Parts: sequence; C-alpha cells; structure tokens
Amino acid sequence: MKPFEKKVWLASPTMHGEEMKYMKEAYDTNWMSTVGANINEVERIAAEKAGVKYAVALSACTAALHLCVKLAGEKLYGRPAVGHGAVEGKRVFCSDMTFDATLNPVLYEGGIPVFIDTNPETWNMDPAALEKAFEMYPEVKLVVCAELYGFPGGIREIKEICEKHGALLIEDAAEAMGATYEGRQCGSFGDYSAISYNGNKIITGSAGGCLLTNSLEDANKARKWSTQAREAAAWYQHEEVGYNYRMSNVIAGVIRGQYPHLEEHIARKKAIYDRYAEGLKDLPVKMIPFDEKSVPNYWLSALIIDEDAMCKQVRGETDALYIGEAGKSCPTEILEAIAGLNAEGRPIWKPMHMQPMYRMHEFITVDGTGRAKTNAYIAGEAKDVGADIFARGMCLPSDNKMTPEQQDRIIEVIRACFE
Ligand SMILES: *Cc1c(COP(=O)(O)O)cnc(C)c1O
Repeated sequence: MKPFEKKVWLASPTMHGEEMKYMKEAYDTNWMSTVGANINEVERIAAEKAGVKYAVALSACTAALHLCVKLAGEKLYGRPAVGHGAVEGKRVFCSDMTFDATLNPVLYEGGIPVFIDTNPETWNMDPAALEKAFEMYPEVKLVVCAELYGFPGGIREIKEICEKHGALLIEDAAEAMGATYEGRQCGSFGDYSAISYNGNKIITGSAGGCLLTNSLEDANKARKWSTQAREAAAWYQHEEVGYNYRMSNVIAGVIRGQYPHLEEHIARKKAIYDRYAEGLKDLPVKMIPFDEKSVPNYWLSALIIDEDAMCKQVRGETDALYIGEAGKSCPTEILEAIAGLNAEGRPIWKPMHMQPMYRMHEFITVDGTGRAKTNAYIAGEAKDVGADIFARGMCLPSDNKMTPEQQDRIIEVIRACFE
C-alpha cells in the first residue's frame, strides 16, 4: 500500500487561530514574562474546568507533579532539612503502567516507588492491588496515580482507599483533561492533581501544566516555590529551596486560545476511537476498555490482541522480534505495518516494574508482592497484568487531523496483519 505523503502522527498539536491572538497580546503589552493576563486566565479556566478551587500555572506537568510531591511530603512529614527530600526514604505507591514522568518527582524527593499492578478491566491502577499494598505496608502515606490515555478507571475507589489508610493521593491527570469519572472531572480527585499542556496532549501550549488543589495555602506555597521561593522582604530572602517552574505568559496565551476547543478535540478523538472500534470489530482484538462510570477524553485509541491471536513475539531491552503466523499478529508486526504507511503508532507504556532502573523495586499485584519480572515476554507466559497489556496492546495513530480515509487505510493495514 502506498504510504501517506504527509505523516499521520500519534497525536500532534491542533491550532485554531485564537492562540496567536493571545500570544500577540502578550507581545504587544510587553508581558513577555512569567507574569501576565494569559497566566491569570489559564489558572481561572483550568480550575473552573476541573471543578477545583485553585490552579497554579507551571512550565510543565512534571513540574506540577514535583510540587505535588513536595506539598504532600511537607504535610505528611514536615519541612525537610536543607538538602533533603520531602519524602526521603519513604515508600510511595505508584502507578506501574504509565509514563515515567508520573513518578520521577517521587525520586527527585528521595522517595522509593513501590509499583502497583494494573486492573485488566480499566488499564488503570488496580484498587484491589492497592489494598493489598496497604496490607503489606500500612505505614505508607502517599499514592501517585495516573489516568491512562484519557480513559479513567477506579480513581474514586482509589481515593477512598487512600482515605481509609490516612494516605494522600496525587492524581496525574496529564492525559485525562476533560474526561470524567462518575460525573466528576479528572484532576479533581487528588489531594493534589496535575494536568499537562505538552505538545501531544488533548490541548496544548507547546508545553506547560497546572497544579490543581482546593487548598489556598497549598496553592500559594506552590506558587512561591515555582518562583524561586522568595520570602516577603525588600531583598532576596530565602528560607527554603526554590524552583524556576512558573509558566510563561506567551505559552499561557496558546493555552488560553486552546481551551475553547477542548470539547471539540474530545469529540474528534471519540470519532477516531469509534471508527477503529467499528473497523476492527470482527478481528481478535479489543479496544482499550472503560466502564459506565467513565467518560473518557479518548486521547489515544489503543487496542489489545486476544491471547490466542498473538503470534510469537519476544522483546529484549531495545529490540523486538516476532514470527508471523496465519490468522495471528502482534504489536511489533502491526506497528511496523503502520510505520510502513508513514503513520505513527506506539507500544503501551512499558510498565515501570519492567524497567532496568527499577529492577530491584517492589511490584505489588492483586495476589501480593513480586519483584520485577523478566523483560523478555513470550506469548502466553505473562506473569502480571501490566506485562501482559504491554505485550499484547498498542496505541494507534490518533491525530485530530487524520482524515476518515487515512484512518480507513490504517484499519486495512491492521486487518492485513491478521490474514
Ligand atoms: C505527558 C505526561 C506527563 C508529563 O507532562 P509534561 O507536561 O510533559 O511534563 C506526566 N504524566 C503523564 C501520564 C503524561 O502522559
């Protein structure tokens, strides 16, 4: 099949025009800084949209997550001594199948991530595995949970488990802005939450993120830390470590121009998901699942191949091999076929417990603990939910600007893999 002349991306920025107006406003008024009307507006809109009291506009969602960990650590353990981390030496329960930015900030602050396995029905952190983890480590006081690909699942249940055990919840809603669970917006479940405006997210500022919270005191602290932690004095007075994490007013202009288009982006992503579901419905695959409590933002369409339709696939640390078989396929084969069409798919986030750097970290499944398992995966030999979804699942090209005709060709190429 002839490849597309212009690459079809997994998810790329979709601009509308208003972004330019607000960026230009920043320029024309000379608020080319980390102060200005666009930032104030982004904070107002982000808080209103998520249904929380306060939003703090920052340079990235990763920065927001870092300040979330610092706020939680200080609340739980007090202000750390200079040069020490806010959760130093403490175990923190973390999502396992996610982007590493979810938990990197736990490490910035000296914490020890303990990975919680994934629920096969929702692809998000498994509340039952989290319960198991609290049974094993009742002293743990912090949970960091991400919503996968804009398809929330179990986040209210996870919040309740945290409350029962006196733990705080950080919600990484980077991928889930605009999605709801039981009618509540993602980003409103955590004691502290974070959203992202990274270039490939549902709306974008090219970069940027917000910390969301209902506590004015915490919002003020985050704002202070993000601007080098300067005390109220006539000179530069410092009592604690600071960061340069504030959002630029130019970037905020882009985000301000994008917000009116959030619902339209979600509708477009839903149409993409529905078209894949329809076009692939008689193949031995299932689309990324969600239940009736969840209204996704459909950021990335993902699928999983039925176990008995997997051809042999082996993944090492950096390479993958497969042996094609009639009527069967695997993510490696399908990703190659999609790439051959000049379109971009992606493997599922490789679970953290399978990452070389976390080889010695604990990983807790519904049945109890396990150490990180082998990285090689052979069909039919999955040892845990995350490894299994990683082996059999994949993200499909989900770009807003992909045409139905292009998507039909991608569907055709996927179908051919199972012939
Ligand atoms: C994109 C993403 C982040 C990081 O967002 P940035 O704004 O790029 O820092 C964090 N967590 C998850 C789950 C993400 O997908």
